[in-house]
Amino acid sequence: MDNLISKPNFKEKYDNFVNGEFKNPSSGKYFDVFSPIDGKVFTKAAHSNVQDIELAVNAASEAFKTWSKVSVTERSNMLIKIAQVMEDNLEYLAAVETVDNGKAVRETLAADIPLAIDHFRYFAGVIRAEEGSINELDNDTVSLIVHEPIGVVAQIIPWNFPLLMAVWKLAPALAAGNCVVLKPAENTPISIMVLMELIGSIIPPGVVNVVNGFGSELGRPLVTNPKVAKAAFTGSTATGRLVMQYATENIVPVTLELGGKSPNIFFPSVMDADDEFLDKAIEGAVLYCLNQGEVCTCPSRLLIHESIYDSFISRVLERIKQVKTGNPLDPTVMMGAQASKVQKDKILTYIKLGKEEGAELLIGGDENKFGGDLDNGYYIQPTVFKGDNKMRVFQEEIFGPVLAVTTFKTNEEAIEIANDTLYGLGAGVWTRDAHELYQIPRAIHAGRVWTNCYHAYPAGAPFGGYKQSGIGRENHKMMLAHYRQTKNILISYNKNKL
Ligand code: NAD
Repeated sequence: MDNLISKPNFKEKYDNFVNGEFKNPSSGKYFDVFSPIDGKVFTKAAHSNVQDIELAVNAASEAFKTWSKVSVTERSNMLIKIAQVMEDNLEYLAAVETVDNGKAVRETLAADIPLAIDHFRYFAGVIRAEEGSINELDNDTVSLIVHEPIGVVAQIIPWNFPLLMAVWKLAPALAAGNCVVLKPAENTPISIMVLMELIGSIIPPGVVNVVNGFGSELGRPLVTNPKVAKAAFTGSTATGRLVMQYATENIVPVTLELGGKSPNIFFPSVMDADDEFLDKAIEGAVLYCLNQGEVCTCPSRLLIHESIYDSFISRVLERIKQVKTGNPLDPTVMMGAQASKVQKDKILTYIKLGKEEGAELLIGGDENKFGGDLDNGYYIQPTVFKGDNKMRVFQEEIFGPVLAVTTFKTNEEAIEIANDTLYGLGAGVWTRDAHELYQIPRAIHAGRVWTNCYHAYPAGAPFGGYKQSGIGRENHKMMLAHYRQTKNILISYNKNKL
């Protein structure tokens, strides 16, 4: 307990950030924000309404008139400055995120915040290196293609990686020359407000606006506001469907990063590999615990070739027993608390369901208790079920540390099971066979197939979903296309012909 990272000091309440200032919500109301670590209220956040959305959209729309004209160099430099301030405050931001979300500080220090910093730097670099295109269509006709910022962007983000998901949306939108109204998830509104305290003065007023409150109240008015030109959403498939409907009313494009039920497939050659690779593969299987399983790409379905099942699963279960769980502010803890009580209860309901539908419980299967204040926190044991891919625990996104394991006999069967899902976000393939290394990823219907690795999110590698996992690719320069209009200037150099 002595080694805990200390809790940062929080303000009594957090407002919205509109037009470069922290602003009270119009209603004057605030809602309680709970820390998953101990289930206690640690601050309050603005309970905004439609009026606050309008203020923010108007500020963004006004700011767009100048921001859209700012040079690429200036935009790039601003992103670099933001990254630097984040880097200077890495430990502080990591601790804030851990208190707000319950995730292990080991992860926020090593992954969430560094990845967010790198994301700003990546887009700062990408826009400096871009060039336009010009095409001579015939002897006297030239087609000039120019990309222009799209306008005011509505961004709605989830609670599982609050800062990182905010940055995945903010960096490309700002790089492309847009202004933003961002709505954080109501479970985790604080780390983004702390970020705005740090970087607010670097950003021209109105370019980034953050409005806190409940998605059910603010989502529709935000996305259907006539001044909004594009919507970007990360969250559940059910809510994504609603956001898409709102965007349809406004006829604006929408990008969606939604749920998943990712297969992680282990072929026989894994067991014959050298010790180093085998150890890495076992870690890869245990990564379903990462971020308490609250990852859209959580490798929540483990598919093991039947010839290696017994030896492989026993190694995996041994490793799971070593996963350190507990207070997420302890830097040696791998698995902290679930992000909310609602989420914890949902996971426990799925564990009960798994037992009822006849899946065999191999490990875990209950709440995790540590004594003291933590007993009011939201902790779940790493859990593994063995069963059949038709079961609900194999088909529905649990968004918790619950792994569903099954076996396969042939490569065709592995592909069939892997693709037997509504989702298509991530997948893992583990093999030493060169043929499988290429053919299996090609056969899987998912936007990202990690091959002999998992849960790596480097900027520059496009990330997004097939099927009901979404539309669009983040984390790559191709995201800029979603945040821009394409203009064609068709020039005639012929004096006579129309
Ligand atoms: P959610 O859909 O309930 O909430 C996400 C956001 O949507 C929150 O900000 C919430 O306030 C808002 N929201 C809620 N109702 C809304 C409405 N009617 N209109 C507009 N916005 C509304 O999802 P969640 O439970 O917070 O997040 C978990 C889900 O997000 C999981 O399904 C997970 O797979 C998915 N996710 C996907 C990715 C990805 O990159 N694909 C990343 C993180 C999370």
